[in-house]
Amino acid sequence: MPESAKPHSWGTSTLAIHGRTRRRKAHHAVSTPIVQTSNFSFDNMTEVVEFMKAKGEGRIIREQEYGRYGNPTQQEAERKLAAIEGAERAIIFSTGMSAVVMTLMAYMKPDGHIIFTSDCYRQTRDFATKLLTKFGIETSLVEPSAAAIEEAIRPNTNIIFTESPTNPYLRVLDIPAVVKVAKRHKILTMIDATLATPYNLRPLEMGVDLVIHSATKYLGGHNDLLAGVTLGGHKQLEELNKLQRMVGSMAGPFSCFLLERGLKTFGLRMVHHNQAGLEVARFLESHPKVERVWYPGLKSHPDYRIARAQMRGAGSVITFLLKGDGQATRRFIDRLELFLITPSLGGSESLVTQMATMSFFDYPVEYRESIGIVDNLVRLALGLEDTRDLIADLKQALDRV
Ligand SMILES: *Cc1c(COP(=O)(O)O)cnc(C)c1O
Repeated sequence: MPESAKPHSWGTSTLAIHGRTRRRKAHHAVSTPIVQTSNFSFDNMTEVVEFMKAKGEGRIIREQEYGRYGNPTQQEAERKLAAIEGAERAIIFSTGMSAVVMTLMAYMKPDGHIIFTSDCYRQTRDFATKLLTKFGIETSLVEPSAAAIEEAIRPNTNIIFTESPTNPYLRVLDIPAVVKVAKRHKILTMIDATLATPYNLRPLEMGVDLVIHSATKYLGGHNDLLAGVTLGGHKQLEELNKLQRMVGSMAGPFSCFLLERGLKTFGLRMVHHNQAGLEVARFLESHPKVERVWYPGLKSHPDYRIARAQMRGAGSVITFLLKGDGQATRRFIDRLELFLITPSLGGSESLVTQMATMSFFDYPVEYRESIGIVDNLVRLALGLEDTRDLIADLKQALDRV
């Protein structure tokens, strides 16, 4: 497909609809076809010989070979994601966690040390503290700040794995400061920017090496698929590409179709998410039954200034403390009518979770509280409903706490 001469001047929505290609589409179909096949055949043996010879020389003359090595629907979604992120290349995985784990596996070293930022995604935390350590990989979990990261650097540190904004406290990392530290020590940087999305944050432009998203969230955007993606430069992603060709862990053609389709409204959805997030956060902050709100778009957030400097908007995840105990918090959640009770975020339906009884239920209480997961902590992930309806719903449930 022809690469457009000027994709870099295109906005998020244009890229999300057209990628970097102009006009020509597979089978002249306006939407991307679902190519539901496990393998791809050759016309004759001459073609096979030519294909293999080119492959041996590192040239790819045909993208389709075997399903684990890529699928046209997946490749179309990858090209679009790369265009949106401003990356040379994207690799899609079956889930966000699969993207996290595979990316770490591709670049970690047996005698290496990986720094993770705390307040990170629960499963990433467990992978770092339980699984990696089981295989003798040294890991550290530190505050999401450049100073704490620098302090944790050891002679064998080879990866800094960050997340921004974090979850549930939506801490915003000073990315340029972290990149400076990493470059000084020649350490590879990765960021899980799921909560930020390429609409609100541009980590590659700030010098981060690899960006990871759970595409299950804002990128897919409709609470109907699981996928993950890692983005970066062609050269940088070669190791990861090799690992995926070996292991698989790809999203199937149907998930990739849903993702590619969901992306068409990505720009529009993010405009709404940013606006709704701020409105609802302000409402919550003004309500007498709310003790404290964390939202990076509010002046009261500890990282408000960093967020303003590096993010286009603060998204639609809001965390707050209710005035009341765990019981009162559960009653409040039960009274909500529009918010569905489940973790996750970034889709069309608004979601609510009491983190202490859901994502972190199996942690010992003392440890849970030491990492800030207290009983009256509520996390909202706003969907695409009318904001005034969401506020009215929150108001009626709060008023009765
Ligand atoms: C959801 C999420 C993940 C995991 O993504 P899955 O698609 O559920 O595997 C990783 N990181 C962050 C920040 C997330 O929100």
